[in-house]
This record gives sequence, structure tokens and C-alpha cells, in this order.
Amino acid sequence: AIAVLGSTNMDLVAYVPKAPRLGETVTGRAFRTVPGGKGANQAVAAARSGGEVVMIGAVGADEFGVRLRSALTAARVDTAALRTVEGASGTAHITVDDEGGNSIIVIPGANAAVTGLETGDEARIAAAGSLLLQLELPLSAVLAGARAARAHGVRTVLTPAPAQPLPADLLAATDLLVPNEHEAAALTGLTDPLQAAEALLAEVPEVVITLGAAGALYAARGSEPLTVPAPRVRAMDTTAAGDTFVGALAVALGEGRPMPEALRWASAAAALSVQRPGAQDSMPTRAETDAFAAA
Ligand code: ADP
Repeated sequence: AIAVLGSTNMDLVAYVPKAPRLGETVTGRAFRTVPGGKGANQAVAAARSGGEVVMIGAVGADEFGVRLRSALTAARVDTAALRTVEGASGTAHITVDDEGGNSIIVIPGANAAVTGLETGDEARIAAAGSLLLQLELPLSAVLAGARAARAHGVRTVLTPAPAQPLPADLLAATDLLVPNEHEAAALTGLTDPLQAAEALLAEVPEVVITLGAAGALYAARGSEPLTVPAPRVRAMDTTAAGDTFVGALAVALGEGRPMPEALRWASAAAALSVQRPGAQDSMPTRAETDAFAAA
């Protein structure tokens, strides 16, 4: 099984010709509310990819919370460890303009209440093959999760997003770090992915840097770096491409597939997701990824 300790957010998306400047009012084209949050996105990606997934986190005691939970349940994610806490669910207020550019305000809401592990969480983590972590929960929770996983020999996979400096004790409890190229540059000060990967290997044993349409770079201590190209597709919405990649990668690794093969399969899943609109809605099923990877 795969455990995810992470965020749930309702994405509130306004589509506008041009984003408003400070003090300006513009008329938009459309509005959508879609379940998101990096934690929930990775959980759904892994479940669609065929994984058995447990989500640890919190939603608020509001209508969004009900919908966020049911989106996970619909994807067959176990939500027994997803708490409902007082107050508002996490929300992401997203403006998308006609050029596809976006600006985002995230209000953590219920996610901020997840400051550590609760009764039963450690057992759920211990029963998993890997624990997926991101940085949309308080660092104290991320660290507690990583340490619990470590204590039980569970592989920790950290997506360092949103980018921020990582405490040494979190890096010390991370097995596989999966930044995109911007996050890798923010962490290391190095814009060259190969150099950034080398630098990150001083902190963690394995790194995958995702490079958008250019694919992914894998580096591990004591072996040659490996570049996995992305399938060439027509991208129409790259929202949650990285989360789809991580969810699928965790499933493939959990089945004992070797890293190069797991990376190719994750790339196929992510390439399928960028051809469809949305975050969780765009994530492929295992059968779809198998078919695309074989073609
Ligand atoms: P994030 O979504 O976190 O910013 P990336 O943009 O690096 O991360 O994308 C993650 C992965 O999704 C890439 O490594 C690649 O496999 C896939 N991907 C992203 N954009 C494309 C694209 N235009 N074509 C094909 N695959 C893509």
C-alpha cells in the first residue's frame, strides 16, 4: 500500500481574459471548483494507477470538506485517517488567463491543523511500502511522518513543493526527493539539473528532477545519472503533471519494478494527464497508462 500524508484543497478557478491588477475589476469567462491539493492529487494518481492508497490529512467542517473527501473515496482512496476539523477546508484561489498563465493564493485552512501524527497514523505508515510527502502541511507533520516511515523501513518520497528551504532533519529522513526543475534550482541555487541533482545527492540517496516536456532526470549515489525522455504529446493542461508522475512512480516502485522502468511508466501516466484538462480529473487509469506505455 501507499500512504500519503498531505494536503487537500478545493481549487476555485476563475478563467479571465486578463488577470486584474491591484484595484481593478475584470469580468471573467467561467468559474469552476475542483478538488485538489498536492497530497490529495498524489493519492488519486496512485489509486488510479492501481495502488492501494491511504490518505492522512484533514478537511474542514464545511461543504468543501464533504466534496474533498468524496472525491478521494470515489477514487477508492481510504479516508479513515482523513480528519474533519473545525473551520474551513483548504482552498486555492486560482486565476487563469487566456494565455494559460495563472496566479494562485493558497489558504491552508484545515491543512494547518495537521501538525503531527495522530493515533493510528504510525501504524498506517508502517503498513505501507512508501510514504508520499509534500510541503503543503506544517513542516512538523511532514517531519513526524518521514521519521515514522524511516523507523519502519518505509520508503519516503518527498515532493519539495511549494519550494522552501528544507530542514536538515527532513532531508535526513528522505529516501527519494522529487523536485521539478524550479524547485531543484531553488533548493540548490543551481539552474543546471545535472549539477542540482549532484548537489542534492549530498543530502538524500536518490533524486528525480522532473523537467516538464523534457522528461525526468534520475540520480542516485554511486551510479550514472539517467535521463528519461517524456513522450511527445500535445499538452493542453499541465496542472498536477508532477503529482501524477509521483503517484504512478510510487505504484510502480511498490510493485518492485526497477527504477528505469518505473520512471518510464510514470512518464507515460504524466504525459496522458497533460493532454486532458483538470488535476484529479486528468489522471489516467492503470489500463490507460499500460496501453500508452506499450504503444
Ligand atoms: P510539475 O507539474 O510539478 O511542475 P513538471 O512540469 O516537471 O512538474 O512535469 C512532471 C512530469 O510530467 C514530467 O517529468 C513529464 O514526465 C510530464 N510532463 C509535463 N509536461 C509534459 C509535456 N508537455 N509533455 C509530456 N510530458 C510532460
